[in-house]
Amino acid sequence: MRVSIPHMGNVYIPFRAAFERLGIDYVMPPANSQRTLSLGSRYAPEGLCIPFKMTLGNMIESVELGADTLLAPGGYGICRLGYYTRVQEQIIRNLGYDIEIIQMGVSEHKFWEILNMIKRISNNAPWHRILSAFRFGLAKLNAIDQIEQIVQKIRPVELVPGTANQIYTKAIHTIDNADDYDTLKRAKADYLGQLKQVATDKQARPLIVGVTGEFYVLLEPFSSFDIERELGKLGVEVRRATFISGWTKFSFFLNPLGINEKSRIHKAALPYLKRDIGGDGWESVGEKVLHAGDYDGLVHLAPFTCMPEIIAENIMPSTRESIPVLTILCDEQIAKAGVLTRLEAFVDLLERKRRAQNEQHKVTV
Ligand code: SF4
Repeated sequence: MRVSIPHMGNVYIPFRAAFERLGIDYVMPPANSQRTLSLGSRYAPEGLCIPFKMTLGNMIESVELGADTLLAPGGYGICRLGYYTRVQEQIIRNLGYDIEIIQMGVSEHKFWEILNMIKRISNNAPWHRILSAFRFGLAKLNAIDQIEQIVQKIRPVELVPGTANQIYTKAIHTIDNADDYDTLKRAKADYLGQLKQVATDKQARPLIVGVTGEFYVLLEPFSSFDIERELGKLGVEVRRATFISGWTKFSFFLNPLGINEKSRIHKAALPYLKRDIGGDGWESVGEKVLHAGDYDGLVHLAPFTCMPEIIAENIMPSTRESIPVLTILCDEQIAKAGVLTRLEAFVDLLERKRRAQNEQHKVTV
């Protein structure tokens, strides 16, 4: 058995850590690229969303490298994600590869489903080794997400553009290669220290833009035109509520205890949307309502043909809580140049709005 898992941001790092600690034979697909998307789009049924196409492209790249067992998220929620693994398995078999896709449930009992899946692919490794490998993977994820949150703050105000991104890229590589807790701890402290040293404009008051939308495109930069880095280049500080380490903490440990991190956001969305509509549509509406007072604007990332985000997109303009929203559809048919032009125009609008508010404030005082 040679396993592989499609990319979604930095999720490959904890999985690689677990595979190596448990001696599981694995291959990682190459980093997401135009080839990944082209492969996925060529073989996916027309009209499916970009998470399906990107993960299918990754799976084909993995089987080309010798993988025969693919891990993929699935579930029993309202969106069509639950059907994806069976369809992808059939497509890849039709291409002549003898593979199996093991679905990891992300709807309920996630913690046990993932542990059981690891037990199966590790040839029945003892539970204490599985838990220890899982814990080490999570420690890496936490370190990376902490560093990324600092990078989001530095990007818009750094004096030498690109410095924070360079440090972040090196940090990911070093953390991915860390073999034990000591190395991991040192790497985290080292890169946090380097970020602290980055020369920044202390007077700058960057625009604050929230980024919300569907889970996959939020976490996989290639699928969403690397929107956060592009906003950083335009001098905008990005706020994103969804991080995979946070999702893991709540989904695996706190949700089963009745602590739901989304209650606040669902409550905020309630006057406009009374129920879960699948995917992250409910949360997208809630984020707009909840943060209308704290952000200058909101970028809403929606995979083309994604029903939950289409509903959210249509509800957003009618909320009382007003804040400019730019919805960006993510698909292989959308060109990055066009997205960047819209992004620049959006940032321009937010700057003018802020200037007008400042003028008004001066007049009032
Ligand atoms: S939420 Fe939307 S984009 Fe995500 S898997 Fe479901 S349909 Fe596709």
